[in-house]
Amino acid sequence: MSETLCHVCGSTDFEGRLVEYIYRRRGSYWVVRDVPCEVCLHCGERYYAGPVLLQIEHRFQEIYEQHAKPQSAIEVPVEVYA
Ligand SMILES: [Zn+2]
Repeated sequence: MSETLCHVCGSTDFEGRLVEYIYRRRGSYWVVRDVPCEVCLHCGERYYAGPVLLQIEHRFQEIYEQHAKPQSAIEVPVEVYA
């Protein structure tokens, strides 16, 4: 679908998909669903367009710094592997 080379495996086979993106910064997590990206069909590496990443960054700041209310929230269990 594009002439782009995968930086990981060198494949040129990509497919547009909507994926779940888990954003993590300084111990804060945020899950964004249905994020558009191009997926390498050979190795699975995901590629996001610049404007998509900027929008995600902007929304993350709205939620964590300006206390915007997210559409929903989940509780995540945490343990140390032992
Ligand atoms: Zn690849």
